[in-house]
Order: sequence, then C-alpha cells, then structure tokens
Amino acid sequence: MDDDVSVLEAVVQDLRRQYGAEYRVMRAASGQAALDILAQVKTRQEPVALILSDQRMPGLTGVDFLERAREIYPDARRVLLTAYADTEAAIRAINSARIHYYLNKPWDPPEEKLYPVLTDLLDDWKAGYRPAFEGLRVIGNRWSLQDHMLRTFLSRNHVPYRWLDIAGNEEAEKLLTERQLNPDQLPAVLFADGTSLPHADPDALAARVGLRTQATQEFYDMTVVGAGPAGLAAAVYGASEGLKTLVIEPDAPGGQAGSTSRIENYLGFPSGVTGADLGRRAHMQASRFGAEFLTQRATGMRIDGQYRFVRLADGREVSSHVVLLAPGVQYRKLEIPGSDQLTGCGIYYGAALVEAASCKDEEVYVVGGANSAGQAALHFSKFACKVTMLVRGGSLGATMSKYLIDEIERTSNIVVATKTQVIAAEGNGHLQSLRLNGPEGEHRVTATSLFVFIGAEPGVAWLPPSILRDEKGFVLAGPDLRREGKMPESWRETREPFLLETSVPGVFVAGDVRHGSVKRVASAVGEGSIAVQFAHQYLAGF
Ligand SMILES: Cc1cc2nc3c(=O)[nH]c(=O)nc-3n(C[C@H](O)[C@H](O)[C@H](O)COP(=O)(O)OP(=O)(O)OC[C@H]3O[C@@H](n4cnc5c(N)ncnc54)[C@H](O)[C@@H]3O)c2cc1C
Repeated sequence: MDDDVSVLEAVVQDLRRQYGAEYRVMRAASGQAALDILAQVKTRQEPVALILSDQRMPGLTGVDFLERAREIYPDARRVLLTAYADTEAAIRAINSARIHYYLNKPWDPPEEKLYPVLTDLLDDWKAGYRPAFEGLRVIGNRWSLQDHMLRTFLSRNHVPYRWLDIAGNEEAEKLLTERQLNPDQLPAVLFADGTSLPHADPDALAARVGLRTQATQEFYDMTVVGAGPAGLAAAVYGASEGLKTLVIEPDAPGGQAGSTSRIENYLGFPSGVTGADLGRRAHMQASRFGAEFLTQRATGMRIDGQYRFVRLADGREVSSHVVLLAPGVQYRKLEIPGSDQLTGCGIYYGAALVEAASCKDEEVYVVGGANSAGQAALHFSKFACKVTMLVRGGSLGATMSKYLIDEIERTSNIVVATKTQVIAAEGNGHLQSLRLNGPEGEHRVTATSLFVFIGAEPGVAWLPPSILRDEKGFVLAGPDLRREGKMPESWRETREPFLLETSVPGVFVAGDVRHGSVKRVASAVGEGSIAVQFAHQYLAGF
C-alpha cells in the first residue's frame, strides 16, 4: 500500500516477480482502500500472508492502517516501508501495530534488500498457517491431560491437525463409529489414509507423523540433550564446525522459549521474535549443517572409558565422545490441594499456547509475577474476556521487566491481584473453582483455567550421581566444581576442567540447567556456542 502510484507500481512488480507463483499480490493507494480490500478478502475467508505499507500518506498513516489491519488479520506479517527519517514512526509501529519488520526505501536491489526479509517472514507465516483441513484429526476430551499433551506436541511440531472435542460433538461421535473406536480409547488420532491410533500419545505418534526417533549412525562426536536455545546453538556451531552432532529432544525444538509468546529482548530482533519461530529457524539452520535430530527423551547416561552412552525413552542407546547437557528447567508444581488431579484438566504449566483458543471468551487465571507470567497474561488477554494475575508480592515491580508491566497496564482486560495466593483448586473432572487468600481474606472464585508460572527446577532426575549438582539440583561445571578450594575426588584428570565441563570429563553443560546460569535466551545461546569450543579441545586430546 502506497499513495505514490509510481512507487506502488514498482513494489508490486518486484513482488509479483519473486512471489507471484505462490501468492496473489494486491495493491491499494490509500489506507482506507486497503482496509476495504482486507474486509472483502476476509468475507471470502481467504488467508492474508503479509501486508507491506508505506508510512507517510494523507488520511491514515501506515502505522494507523497496520494497527487496524492487525484486528482483521492478526496472523498476517506486517511490514512498514519507511524513509530514513521515519525511524520514530517505525518504533511507534513496533509498539502499537506490533509490526514484524520495517524496511527502508529505496529497496533496490530487491534481491538484497527486500526479498530476504520478506521470504523469512513468509516462511514464518507459512509455519503457523493451517490451510483448509486435510490430514490428522484428533478426537479427545478438553479436560484430559493426555489430550492436552498430544495437542501440545502436534502444535509445537507444526503438524497440522484438527481437534474435535468429544463433548456433545456429533461429527466426532460419527467419526469414532466409522473407525470402530469407542470413547474409552480417547484421545484417538485418525489419519487421512483411513487408519487410526487409539490411546494416542506423543511417543507413539512421533514416527507416524514423520519425526525421526532412531539414530542413523552408530556413533557421534557430540550428543546434545535438549533443543532449547543452548542445545540449538551447540548444534549449529558443532555441526557447522564438522562435528557429527546428534540432538535429542522429545518436544519441538525451541525449548522454554518455544512456549513463550514473544521474546522482546533478544539481540537483533527489534520487533521481538516468537520462541517457536526462533526454534524453528535454529532447527533448520542446524539441520542444514548436518546435525541430526531425534524426537526422543534422554532417560539415563553411562560412561564407559572414553565413550558416553545416553539412554533414550524407547530403551535404545546412542553413543558419542562428548555429551552436552542442555535440558533446561521444568516448571515448579503448584503444591495445593487438588492440583495433581486437575493438572491438564484446567491447571496448566507453561504458556500452554494450545489451550489459548479453548479459553476464548472465558476468564483465565495466571499464577506468578515474573516475566513468564506477564507474557502469558498478555497472550491470553487476546482470547479470554478477562485475565486475572494472582501475585504473591505487593506489586509486579520487583519481579517483572518494565516493558511488560507497562503493556499489562495498557491492557484493559488484565487485572493484577497482588498479595493473593491460590490455596486450593476444586472441580469434578475439571477445574471449576479456586480458593484464594488475598487482602480481603479467603474466598472462592469460579475458574476453568489456571496457568502456573511459579519458577522452575532443573531437568536432571535422569542423570547419574557422578554428574555433581548443587543443593537445588543445578549442574556444577568448571571452577564451580571446586568446593573449599578442592576438586572432587571423582575428578581424576591432571588438567583443570574446562569452563563448562561437568565432573565427568567430556560431559559439558549449558543454559538454564547450569549452576549459576543467567536465565536468558541470549546467555543460553552463548553458553551452547562456547561449549562447542571446549568440546573441540577435549576431542583434540584423543
Ligand atoms: C514463559 C517464559 C518467558 C521467557 N521470556 C524470555 C524473554 O523474553 N527473554 C529471555 O531472554 N528469556 C526468556 N525466558 C527464559 C528463556 O526461555 C530461558 O532462559 C532459555 O530458554 C533457556 O534455554 P535452555 O536451552 O537452557 O533451556 P530450555 O529452553 O528449557 O530448553 C531445554 C530443552 O530440553 C528439553 N529436555 C528436557 N529434558 C530432556 C531430556 N531428558 N531429554 C531430551 N530433552 C530434554 C526440553 O524439552 C527443552 O526443549 C523465558 C522463559 C519462560 C518460561
């Protein structure tokens, strides 16, 4: 969209040349005309992938237009085309219209200045786009933990599926009968080829949807456990520097960051980046360099001379000289009456983005006062009619970044209940109410969804005792292995351990799971990359 007709013509030509085979390019010479087109396209139920708009125009400015376009097509990528002098407008656009990128005029040559950015954004859009349905159908029960885990797994791995809640759904009942399944066998997955998987779980489904679960090689230089930012960075550097690298991850790559709605403070992404996009890109990058990914969980590790064996959930083992531990942290459980029975049936850990749509127009509760809780509250505010944040402290100031606090204050359907704790969760089969203790004393509120963000614990229960940890379970490495100036007796090497090396030579640790780590995407990425340098030094000793 541009009011200067010659510029508009030139952009449209460039776009058609590059993208015309796959996308339809539509044009408008004013904000109002563009909004009219979007409304028509919406009526025809057609998807919009990307909106590219000039900033300075009579009538609606580009930022005003993109802000309104976002209401019609929230998932379309929004790009502002500005003159150099418009940086102010670009920043405003990032804040108010949540644009994904701003490009400067002139964009010549487009091969360098326009296409790389737009192609990246279109890839992101495509990854999240669910075309008219053809493929997997999941029939389940909204209030079932297995169903929740299955949908989370499919969504995070970008496997398109349609979910049918069995409750009062004739189509779901009909499909079950057709496939000779009964409601005791839920969740069930129905494949397009007519086959079905009753009692479906992620492990059984992984291979059926084309995810690799078995290693192709007998032996690797480096096994990376966990594909969060730390593990992915190690995979990119390791594979690009010639190490035969295997990455083990039961979920979609991206780690905790993959579940957060938007990371705003990662260097180089002025409009923020979703964890899922970051994970998907890093996964693609590492795979391009030859890293192999297995959809598996590590369940044990043993050391035999210079070989390190990691045991997988299906009982197989993989072997390598170096292991990098990057399993991050897992959410701490809410220790209140009712929480165990209702987990997955109204109580969820992590952002559980997959549940957001089920909470449409409902009231949602979020426990916690740190950044992760703030991001989740903002995310749910787009779906739920009201989001209540339950915060133990007197304010958010001490625990949350200022930019999030400001945004929460600007969001009219988020309420922050300070000095308030959840003391019990109640419900028959699914969450129905919460007992709260706040400034007005104990009281009960009706609630169907509670999302919990009350800190996290290291994911290390599967590690052997020879990998030393601190009293909270975080893995010790490098200089932190020394206690009162002495190395542990188990350390038999004549050299000092490398910076990120654990108490077992050749086993390194990076990211949130390391004792003393900074819990940030950038630091996890940094540690994952540095660990590879030490892996090289270790391997040079063979
Ligand atoms: C809601 C939320 C919002 C956040 N927002 C920001 C932000 O805006 N900016 C920022 O810098 N940081 C943010 N963080 C922190 C950031 O996400 C973490 O610091 C970062 O993800 C740590 O990376 P990691 O690779 O160490 O671990 P993780 O991201 O935790 O990744 C670990 C991976 O290991 C896998 N794994 C676990 N156990 C096993 C096993 N046994 N076998 C195989 N794989 C396993 C997990 O499935 C996971 O994918 C946020 C965190 C949360 C929870």
